[in-house]
Amino acid sequence: QVNRKSTIQKARLKLPILAEEQQIMETINENPVVILAGETGSGKTTQVPQFLYEAGYALKKMIAITEPRRVAAISMSQRVADEMNLTSKEVSYLIRFEGNVTDETKIKFMTDGVLLKEVQSDFLLRKYSVVILDEAHERSVYTDILIGLLSRIVPLRKKRGDPLKLIIMSATLRLEDFTNNQRLFKITPPVIKVDARQFPVTIHFNKRTNENYLKEAFNKAVKIHTKLPDGGILIFVTGQQEVNTLVRKLRKAFPLRHKDNQSNKNEGDSDSENSDKEIEDDLKQTLKRRKKVKPVPKINLDDYSVPGDNEDLNLEEEINTDSEDEDFGDVNIVSNNQPLWVLPLFSLLPSHKQAEVFKPPPEGCRLCIVSTNVAETSLTIPNIKYVIDTGKTKVKLYDKVTGVTSYIVTWTSKASADQRAGRAGRLGPGHCYRLYSSAVFNDTFQEFSVPEIQQKPVDDLYLQMKCMNIDKVVNFPFPTVPDLLQLQTADKRLEILGALKNSKVTPLGRAISRFPVLPRFGKMLALSHQQNLLPYTICIVAALSVQEVLLETPILQTNSQEVKNIRQKWAAIRRQWAGVGNSLLLGDPMVFLRAVGAAEYANSEGSLEKFCLENGLRQKAITEIRKLRIQLTNEIKTNIPNSDIIVDPKLSPPSDIQAKLLRQIMLAGMGDQVARKIMPEEIKEDQDKTKFKYAYHANNIEEPVFLHQGSVLKKTLPEFVVYQEIYETNKMYMRGVTAIEPE
Ligand code: ADP
Ligand code: MG
Repeated sequence: QVNRKSTIQKARLKLPILAEEQQIMETINENPVVILAGETGSGKTTQVPQFLYEAGYALKKMIAITEPRRVAAISMSQRVADEMNLTSKEVSYLIRFEGNVTDETKIKFMTDGVLLKEVQSDFLLRKYSVVILDEAHERSVYTDILIGLLSRIVPLRKKRGDPLKLIIMSATLRLEDFTNNQRLFKITPPVIKVDARQFPVTIHFNKRTNENYLKEAFNKAVKIHTKLPDGGILIFVTGQQEVNTLVRKLRKAFPLRHKDNQSNKNEGDSDSENSDKEIEDDLKQTLKRRKKVKPVPKINLDDYSVPGDNEDLNLEEEINTDSEDEDFGDVNIVSNNQPLWVLPLFSLLPSHKQAEVFKPPPEGCRLCIVSTNVAETSLTIPNIKYVIDTGKTKVKLYDKVTGVTSYIVTWTSKASADQRAGRAGRLGPGHCYRLYSSAVFNDTFQEFSVPEIQQKPVDDLYLQMKCMNIDKVVNFPFPTVPDLLQLQTADKRLEILGALKNSKVTPLGRAISRFPVLPRFGKMLALSHQQNLLPYTICIVAALSVQEVLLETPILQTNSQEVKNIRQKWAAIRRQWAGVGNSLLLGDPMVFLRAVGAAEYANSEGSLEKFCLENGLRQKAITEIRKLRIQLTNEIKTNIPNSDIIVDPKLSPPSDIQAKLLRQIMLAGMGDQVARKIMPEEIKEDQDKTKFKYAYHANNIEEPVFLHQGSVLKKTLPEFVVYQEIYETNKMYMRGVTAIEPE
């Protein structure tokens, strides 16, 4: 029934999972719940939905497959459609802001959050004959909850004579959380392990651990590219910014020749012709170092004397770098001045650029991908032979009580370091260069990463579960139980918000939970049918829900003076957007309203990209805001039948009165997050008063918190404000700030 192209069929036959098709399908047919574990790249995500389809599981109902990452949901649905020679009408995806599901959809890829929302409207998930929870080892909050819920849904469906199959797919990591858990599954589900054709990967640890891992990564990539045989390089760093920096430096170091005719493409996205002094300096350093490195003979590191001057100090550094040459092993050193085809990969990257990583590099180029941990297990990038692992990962930390967020870069876990290394062994024997010492790995790395449910606020989940009549959330069969304090805080915040009363969902709570946004935003929306405020609140909520709408620093960094000028220009634009009176006091939300309005106008004129670039807006954020506005608007139309709201691209700015009302709406949603200006008389004698100019005192938090860099309220310094969140960098800053009036 499936008519595959012969090239595809050939590629499939190489996947180890294909040999197991019969065993896998028999186990699934005979058991309601099956756990399928297999190394990344063995073919789980792309093949299992096809097995099920061919076995007839999509004849009457749909096959659902969830992914924790949006990138994976989109790209895997496309891949499976391709492999099966079907269209996106039949193999579709649905993520929070978009999708291409139709009436004809047979295989539906979606994010785990989307399926959780579906459980809320149809607890038995009657549309589906089978649910696959993919990447369960990632332990995303939503997947964890879905496992708990489905452990109950599956028996219920059986009772009704309409059985549902559950397949939990995971890398071969810590399966005991699912299997050794009586509360979750009374009968332990069978585990099928798929062997991957994994070639050996030689692990090379650094002798010592250098603080500047980005520079280390650059140097290592240069070495691999100039000295080692063909084969793609995959570099793991912690975030988008690091990805961009490294991509720029590597492109600069190994530019594409003109005849490669890809150069414009390569330059187009984040590079510019402008010389970047920092990069050049760095590069010169590296080149100098490389020249120097060669003649240094092997020396005995235990035989040292105290260095006398700077020359020697440098030399010592060289020696240390050189000693790592050993790590390259016995491979033939080849002379290599090939261009390097460097591509970025992170989840906020536009989809079409993400797709680039699956394509072969241009003739004569070596592939080099700089990625965040998206490439760890969700996406299998072909043709990687060398992995460079900084060993780092970026995590968002939440203070359980105050809700203060901060990003920290920290060591990843042993499990994920091993996953990263594994990426090098898909094609043939590979190498993984760990930019840290084996001592750090053994002594400092945790075995596994902490499940997300234990480190994230659970307010929205808590409310959703309450709405599903799960009264005692504490007793829910979580694979890993969330922190009790976390649950209590959520309960408290939801009571303050009015979503719960005596731990029971209120009608307001039910209204709130219908919106696919955080409960506090849900409340703001639920209140805004008054005074024609809905279109504004929808836009504000959409903007507050999307990350990084306003840029702080230009992406195309040139020199520091230019950066300063651009920042000043952006600040002036934002002040102008804020206006005066109540508009100004509305603060960040007002800036968002005008920014979105102006961007939509530019879009209708066909100049969105230019507009965003000039005004310091992130273009993808603007597109996401638009999608979320449409989605929220539709959602509200179905919930409030008489509302005749539309998404108006040319939304005119709110009147002064409306702005005042919007400030009250902000207060309703953020009422637990109030801050008061710190007055001069409160500042101690011995403290520098100028440092407290923008300082506030927030409830629960002892240290002062500050208006963020680009806040338009810096001019007025209102006595009381509410804020969306506090984040910590060098200081604590409030984001999403509105001035309120004390009652
Ligand atoms: P798993 O889920 O077990 O990690 P996948 O099913 O994702 O494995 O991948 C199986 C194979 O399909 C891999 O070799 C991968 O490189 C290939 N593949 C996946 N997506 C694409 C794509 N968009 N283009 C080309 N090859 C792909
Ligand atoms: Mg997969």
